[in-house]
Parts: sequence; structure tokens; C-alpha cells
Amino acid sequence: MKLADRIARLGTETAFAVSAEAAAFAAQGNKVYPFHLGDLNLKTPANVQAAAIKAMQEGRTGYCPNGGIPQLREILAEDVSAARNVKYTMENIAIQPGGKPTISKFFMSLMNPGDEVLYPNPGYPIYESQIEFHGGKAVPYGFIEGEKNFEIDTDMLESRITPRSRLLVLNDLQNPTGAECSMAELEKIAELVRKHDLWVLCDEAYFDIRYQGRSKSLVSLPDMVDRCIILYTFSKKFAMTGWRLGATIGPKEIIDVIIKLNVNDESCSNHFIQYAAIEGLTGDLTEARQILATLKERRDQAVDILNDIEGIKCLRPDATFYLWPNVTGAMQKTGLTDYDSFRKTVLQQTGVSFCTRLHFGRPLEGEDQYYIRLAYSGINTPEIEKGLGKLKAFIEQ
Ligand code: PLP
Repeated sequence: MKLADRIARLGTETAFAVSAEAAAFAAQGNKVYPFHLGDLNLKTPANVQAAAIKAMQEGRTGYCPNGGIPQLREILAEDVSAARNVKYTMENIAIQPGGKPTISKFFMSLMNPGDEVLYPNPGYPIYESQIEFHGGKAVPYGFIEGEKNFEIDTDMLESRITPRSRLLVLNDLQNPTGAECSMAELEKIAELVRKHDLWVLCDEAYFDIRYQGRSKSLVSLPDMVDRCIILYTFSKKFAMTGWRLGATIGPKEIIDVIIKLNVNDESCSNHFIQYAAIEGLTGDLTEARQILATLKERRDQAVDILNDIEGIKCLRPDATFYLWPNVTGAMQKTGLTDYDSFRKTVLQQTGVSFCTRLHFGRPLEGEDQYYIRLAYSGINTPEIEKGLGKLKAFIEQ
């Protein structure tokens, strides 16, 4: 069979491969401590579930408008506008089956073959995959480890802008580092966007997964609302990863194009689930808040244990459910100096399963520090304690 040439350029989310390895190890009768996948082992709030069931029973099971049901588009426009201090209406919203479809639809709408796209690396691997699949040139920018937070290397970002640069991907709050842009970083990025006439994909999948303070958005800065497309998802905040519901949010002229892509790709997002999303946005938030409280407890426990391990240094991000500890010293100590042998040996010896820097884009030239990613969204506190306790014993002995 001769596949289309573009398939050779399609990447993947290699975290799923780590999941498969962990599952195979567990199938041999071994205990696994799953820190690899950004999925939640928490239930969708009961009121959200009930709204979906009610809508289904009431017959909301046929096709619905391609851009989503008007009630949800209106409520989401109000909600997103209030949180970001901008003014969107339903015409700025295209409902999607998840957050992820916004990534490819953004590139299909705005990128021509050969256009350069600046994207975060380490970062969510689907950006690199989709840029290259659609014939663009993926140009990475990196992060600097600060005292309290990872920061975008804005000097690197600026130095990589060329006359062919057309798009920028900004994932604030970030997977995998947990990085959150300061106001100064956002202002610098807005300045570059204006100066170089860029369009921005603002991946805000984790906007509402935060434990203190308030999330900021690039769209709140002057002129940005006309240049930014937001990736919004219900997956994380209502523990709805498997339901598949999200939205693309941006200027009407682009949203109209995105809705035309919806018509071509999936006709519409799941009809009755959109009523569940309305309940999530307007109904009782007790259980949604409990999800955050549970995640915060897990974060604190994991960070405390990690920082107690010789050769590991872990920041405590206020948002996302990821940790990106620097494990350079620990790897040296164990003599396992390449990522794959460290990851596989730790799995074999302790059952602790995680992703490494290699799962988040091709490493940049000159990187000399080693990082792994621990997701604490799918593991309870007693298991965090046991698993990371085993990791500590393995590294220190
Ligand atoms: N963007 C980032 C940064 C993510 O980490 C994820 C999921 O892990 C997504 C987008 C996709 O979200 P969804 O599961 O809603 O498609």
C-alpha cells in the first residue's frame, strides 16, 4: 500500500505508548504507579452527568447546529469574556469534540505550506505533529527554569522570528512544565505579535485548573483579541476527558471558517453532552471545586516527596496537574544517563511510570539538564506516597 506522503510527517502523542508499556508491565502481575498520562481518575460531577442523561432522554440525540447549540455558545461566550475581561458573543464560539480539534483546525485555517510556526518545546507534542503534517515549518522556542516557575525564553523566541513566521502557539498554563506567563512575559509576547503580524493559538486547556490566584490570558492585552484563537476544553475542569467537548474561540471571520471545517469533519459535536456543559457552567460547582481540592492535595504531597529525594528539584506550579522535576542529579547518581534507560529501569524496579522530556518534542541544542513529567491527575494520595517513596529508595540506594 502506498500511503499519502503527508502521513510520513504525522507525529503522535507518545505518552499513550508509555501507558501501553505500563499496562503490559501490570499485566505481568506487577504493581504500577501511574504518573504518565494526563487523564483524571475522578468522576464527572453528578449534576453534569444528570444533565446529559436528561437531555438524551428528552431526545437531544439528533444532529445539532454545526457550531454548537446556541444556548451553550452564548453561555460560554459570557463565561470566557468575564474571566478574560473581553467581549465575545456566540458568533465567536465554535463548539468542538474536545480541545484538541482546535489545533489542527487552527493550522488548516491560517497556515500555508512553508509558513513558519513558533511553538513551545518542551510542549504538547501535537503542535509539532500538526504543523508538519499540514506542511508548515515547526520552529521551537524553549523555557528557562526560574526560582518559582518556568519562564518562556523570550530572547530565543524573538531571535527565531523571520519574515516567514506567521503563527505562534502559546500554551499558558503549560503542559508539561506547569509554566505560567508573568504579565511581563505576556506583554513581550503581545509586542512581538503586533510587530511581526502574527496569529496566535492560545491553548488554554488548563485555564481553570489552578489552586490559587487568577489565570491571565493573552487575549486581555491590547489588540490581542483580534489575533488570538483560544483552545477551550471541558475535559479537565469537569473531569470530562472521555466525553469529548471543547470549543474554538476567536474573531468571527475565523470562527466561520472553523465551523465550515466542522461541517466537513464531524458535522457537529455530541448534541446531548452540550446540555451537560451548560449545567457545568451555570449549575452547582460543589463537585467541580472538590476536583480542584483533591488535585491540590496530590500536588503538595508529590512535590514534598520529590524535593526530599537526593538529586531531584521540583517547582510547585499553581496550575495544571503536572510536575516537571529536574532529575539531572538523580540520573547521574543512578548511572542511568539516558532518558529511556532511566525511565524503563525505574518502571522495572519500582513500578513508577512517567514520561520524560523526550515525549514533549525534539530536544533543543544545548540542553544539559534532564527533566521528567509526572501527572498526578490519575493517582490517589496513598499511591503517590508509596510510589514516590519507592522512587526515593531506588535513587538513594
Ligand atoms: N492542549 C493541551 C496542552 C493538553 O495537555 C491537552 C490534553 O492533554 C489538550 C490540549 C487536549 O485536550 P482535550 O482532551 O480536551 O482534547
